[in-house]
Formats: sequence, C-alpha cells, structure tokens
Amino acid sequence: MRIVLVGPPGAGKGTQAAFVAKSLSIQHISTGDLFRSNISQRTELGKLAKSYMDAGNLVPNEVTIAMAKERMEQPDAENGFLLDGFPRNVSQAEAFDELLENESMQLDVVLALEVPEDEVVKRIAGRRVCRNESAHVFHATYEPLAQDGVCGVCGGELYQRDDDSEETVRKRLEVYHTQTEPIIDYYKVQGLVVTISAVGKVEDITTCVMEALKCEDDK
Ligand code: ADP
Ligand code: AMP
Repeated sequence: MRIVLVGPPGAGKGTQAAFVAKSLSIQHISTGDLFRSNISQRTELGKLAKSYMDAGNLVPNEVTIAMAKERMEQPDAENGFLLDGFPRNVSQAEAFDELLENESMQLDVVLALEVPEDEVVKRIAGRRVCRNESAHVFHATYEPLAQDGVCGVCGGELYQRDDDSEETVRKRLEVYHTQTEPIIDYYKVQGLVVTISAVGKVEDITTCVMEALKCEDDK
C-alpha cells in the first residue's frame, strides 16, 4: 500500500506512522527524519536544510523532492510506504504524481489527521525525541516512559527539537495553513482523502486509521 499522511505539525503523524507501517510491513518515510539525519551527519544537505527548518520554513522543493524520490526508490520501499511530511505543498504533490506515473505505481489513500490548534501546540511543547537512529517520539508529560529524559524503548537520550520552540511553531503552523493544507483539496479531486479525528488516545486513533485503511483496501 502507498499512503500519504497529512496534518499540522504535532498532529501525531510520526506517532501513528510508526504503528501503521509496522503492522502493514511497509516503510515509514519521514522527510523531517531524513533531514534531521543529514543534520546529525553534518552533510551539505543537512547544513542547507537546518537553516530553513530552524526558521520554520519549508526546505526548497528541488532538494526535498530529490531526497524523497531517492528514498522511495530504495528496494525496501518496493512493497509500499507511508509518507509522513511529504508532499508538503502542491508542487511536491505534482512531482510525486509524476514519479508514481513514471514508475507505474499508484497512491492508495491520503489520511488527513485533524487536531485543534491548542492541542497541537501542547503536543509540540512536550515533544521529546530519542537521539538514537530509530528517533522514537514521546511526550514529556503525557507519557511516563519519557519522564526521566531517557527513551523508554531503547534507553537513548531524549532531546527537544530546535524547531519546537514556541516562536518557530507559530511559523510552522502558518506555513502548514498556507502551503500544505491546499494539498488536501488537490487530493480530494483525485478522491483519495480520508479525514480522521486525531484527538484521544494514541491506540484509539491507530484503530481508526487501520479501519480506514481496511475500507480502502476492500474497494
Ligand atoms: P507530527 O509527526 O505530526 O509532528 P508527532 O507524532 O511527533 O507529530 O507527535 C507530536 C507530539 O504529540 C509527541 O510528543 C507525541 O508523543 C504526542 N502525541 C502523539 N499522538 C498523541 C495523542 N493522540 N495524544 C497526545 N499526545 C500525542
Ligand atoms: P517534520 O519532522 O515533519 O515536523 O519536519 C520538520 C521540518 O523539516 C519542517 O518544518 C521543514 O522545515 C522540513 N521538512 C520536512 N519535510 C519537508 C518537505 N516535504 N518539504 C519541505 N520541507 C520539509
């Protein structure tokens, strides 16, 4: 299956993607994680991306599309993938459509996660990420597993993302509304959008997502 997850920063895309990709045995591809990995490896792409990310802006389309394309073309993504954070504007969605057509692949569904803005802000303020490669995501107050600053899954050090500061979050939300939300209408025209209320327990939202995917698969 090929799935796009869309929603504001902090909606829980990465959290849901980890469970869903595992249960469907498909790759979870997060462009944000790919950029962060480039930053920690001090690559040229990482240096370029960091300046945009720290300001809450999108990294330019050319490099983002090339990076996402390269990842989707890896052999481990042949069985399918769940895109988390890509496409993030209409130009990227058009480039992705072109890639799908060239590779004779199809996109099955676009899951749009809906969360009110005040909840998203609370989620981002408490987000803690593991420094290890798996980049497990926790919440400082919602999850006992994260309370001592240590990843409850692998024991790695938890840190707060540079772009999760209050000021940057406001900019990222603005960028979401102006640049990313229009892709929902773009995909509605293709009949691909399923909207999910992503408020409540993580496991209840996963159940809704899995049910929505099952309906798409049965079509
Ligand atoms: P996104 O990938 O959309 O930016 P994340 O998956 O990183 O969002 O989640 C943002 C924060 O919200 C994390 O700290 C995560 O632990 C927390 N979170 C995710 N889903 C929920 C939920 N259903 N209820 C409360 N907190 C959540
Ligand atoms: P995320 O981890 O999805 O919250 O993304 C963190 C940051 O990485 C974003 O605020 C952007 O600066 C950058 N980013 C991630 N995905 C994309 C994308 N598809 N296009 C442009 N920038 C991106």
